[in-house]
Amino acid sequence: MTKRFHDYYRNSRPVISFEVFPPKTPKAMARLERVLPELVALGPDFMTVTYGAGGSTQDKTLAIAKIIRGEHNKNAACHLTCVGASRADLDQILTDIRAAGIDNIVALRGDPPSGQTEFVPAPDGCRYGNELLEHIRRFEADRGLTPAGIAVAGYPETHSEAPDFAADLANLKRKVAAGADVIITQMFFDNRFFFDYEKRVREIGITLPLVPGLMPVQSAQQIRRMAQMCGSSIPDDLGAALDDAGDDTRKTLDIGARHCARQAKELFAQGVPGIHFYVLNRAEHMAQIMDEIRR
Ligand code: FAD
Repeated sequence: MTKRFHDYYRNSRPVISFEVFPPKTPKAMARLERVLPELVALGPDFMTVTYGAGGSTQDKTLAIAKIIRGEHNKNAACHLTCVGASRADLDQILTDIRAAGIDNIVALRGDPPSGQTEFVPAPDGCRYGNELLEHIRRFEADRGLTPAGIAVAGYPETHSEAPDFAADLANLKRKVAAGADVIITQMFFDNRFFFDYEKRVREIGITLPLVPGLMPVQSAQQIRRMAQMCGSSIPDDLGAALDDAGDDTRKTLDIGARHCARQAKELFAQGVPGIHFYVLNRAEHMAQIMDEIRR
């Protein structure tokens, strides 16, 4: 049994995790295989591998997690979503994940596949993250498996489909009750959203580790698209600096890395249990960030 999420966050020092995504093309996969050792060398405690919208990269998720563990000796977690999967499909995926010795799962409802605006559960599938969690816990109990470490998503700026903040927090509480071990947040670029969220999460009695998710900006266009998708606001000063950088990629990466490092330092100073970095399969900017936060 590998170390599970709750074992990490029992640490007194902050836990660093890196999230990568399965590339769509063989060329991009080859690039990721070159980048993985560079990311591992930066010393994250563990890495996680996302699960593509529509379940399109399901096999690749596990394959990459196996590479991280088998070839780079770094603990890896698989993300898993409800998209397009019946409960029987989920059982097969969970069987494969656990058989591969992957003992940590980031459990999510998932976003609708591209071209669809509304999430529609698969026949006999799970409708929400909490149902997926309940399903995973039942799967383990039925087979006498040691429970996996499970992370769920939290939304400092509220999930885009939630009617309001309180309803979204009530949902988070359902996921905690279903057996989550840790909450990892959606990306945010202004720490005030996280501090406010943390206060409200604690006020409703949730005591689990709440881990901020940070994404270093790689391009102004990309971050605006992603921020819009995820409902994350871009502070005016960051937006203005990115506009000034224009098409200068190096300058943009530098602005993104500095902003991310500033956020991370302030979060560490406030005693967060760890930081989850959405590294977007690149290592140069992460090297700069890790260097700045370790100074
Ligand atoms: P849920 O917790 O199910 O919430 C979805 C919406 O439904 C919310 O608005 C919630 O308030 C509402 N809701 C929940 N339960 C109920 C209920 N019982 N009744 C009424 N309303 C309810 N997506 C991917 O496709 N692949 C990934 O690998 C991936 N990784 C991620 C990692 C992290 C750390 C984060 C923060 C997000 C990730 N996502 C990923 C995105 C995520 O799938 C989306 O944000 C998705 O829209 C919601 O997933 P969830 O698990 O938070 O959903």
